Amino acid sequence: PDSPLFAGLPGDIRISFEFFPPKTEKMEAQLWDAITQLAPLAPSFVSVTYGAGGSTRERTHATVARIVAETTLLPAAHLTCVAASQDEIAEVAQQYWDAGVRHIVALRGDPPAVDAGRFVPHPQGYASAADLVLGLKRQHDFEVSVAAYPEVHPEAASAEADLDNLKRKLDAGASRAITQFFFSTDAYFRFLDKALAAGITAPILPGIMPVTSFAAIRRMSANTEIPDWMTHMFEGLDERPGPRGLVSAVVAADQCRRLYEGGVRDFHFYTLNKAEQAYAICHLLGRRPREIAA
Ligand code: FAD
Repeated sequence: PDSPLFAGLPGDIRISFEFFPPKTEKMEAQLWDAITQLAPLAPSFVSVTYGAGGSTRERTHATVARIVAETTLLPAAHLTCVAASQDEIAEVAQQYWDAGVRHIVALRGDPPAVDAGRFVPHPQGYASAADLVLGLKRQHDFEVSVAAYPEVHPEAASAEADLDNLKRKLDAGASRAITQFFFSTDAYFRFLDKALAAGITAPILPGIMPVTSFAAIRRMSANTEIPDWMTHMFEGLDERPGPRGLVSAVVAADQCRRLYEGGVRDFHFYTLNKAEQAYAICHLLGRRPREIAA
C-alpha cells in the first residue's frame, strides 16, 4: 500500500517524440541535445513539425535530413496542404521520398490570419487533409499519420462530422492518428470508444503535452478543456520555472499512468525540443534506455 503510484510499470510501451525545426544555431544545439538524450529510449518514430502555411519547409526538411544522416531514428515529416498547390506538395513529398523518408504526418494546416480563421483551399490545392492523404498515397507508398481531436476540431460541424472526417483520412490510407493534446483523460477515453463504435480500429496515439507555460497552453487550447484542478495546480507558478517544470512533469506523468491503466500502450510526446520531461515520464512508465534494457 505504501508503494509509489508508478512502481512496477514495466515499460511495455511504444513511444514517439515530436520536435519542431530550430530557427537559430542555439536552438539547433538544443534540439540535438534533446534528440541525443531521447534516442536511447528507442522511440518508434520521431516527428518534425511544419511551420504555419509551410513557413518552415526548408528547415523541416533540413532537420529530417539530419536525423536520417546522423541517427538510426525513423523520422516522420509533417506536411500541410494549406496555401500550396498539389504540385508544390508533390515536390516536397518527392524530396522526402528521395531522402529515404517513408513516414509523413499529413495535415491540412491552419488558415492564415488574412482569411479570418476560415480555411480557403488553394485553387490548385487539396481541400482537406483526407485529400492530401489520397494524393500522398497515389504518389508513393508512404506510411501516413493524421491528426485527431478528442475534444473536436474547432471548425467541425459536430463531433460526429469530425469523427467521419477522421475515418475518411484513415480510409484514404493513413495508418494511425495522433491526437491534439488534452488534459481531460476521460475525454480521450470517450473519444476512443466513439471511434471504435464508428469502426475505427487504427491506433489513436494520445499526444502528451507537458506544460511549460500555462499561459501559452491557455492560448493554444481552442477546444481543449483546461480542468479547474489544472488551473489550481499551476496557480502562482508563472514566475517559477523550476517548480513549474516539476509540477508539470508530475501532471503529465500521472495522465500517462491513467492512460496506461486504461490500456493505452502508445504515447506521443510534444517535447518542444526539450528532453527532460519526456525522458522522466517514460522512465516513470518503466522505460529504460537501450543499454540498460538490453
Ligand atoms: P482536416 O482533417 O482536413 O480537418 C479540418 C476541419 O475540417 C475539421 O473540422 C474537419 O472536421 C473538417 N472537415 C474536413 N473535411 C471535411 C468534409 N469533407 N466535410 C466537412 N468537414 C470537413 N499544423 C501545422 O501547420 N503544422 C504542423 O506540423 C502540425 N502538426 C500537427 C500535429 C498534430 C498531431 C495535430 C493534432 C495538429 C497539427 N497541426 C499542425 C495543426 C493542424 O494543421 C490544424 O489543427 C488544422 O486546423 C486542421 O488540420 P487537420 O489535418 O486536422 O485537417
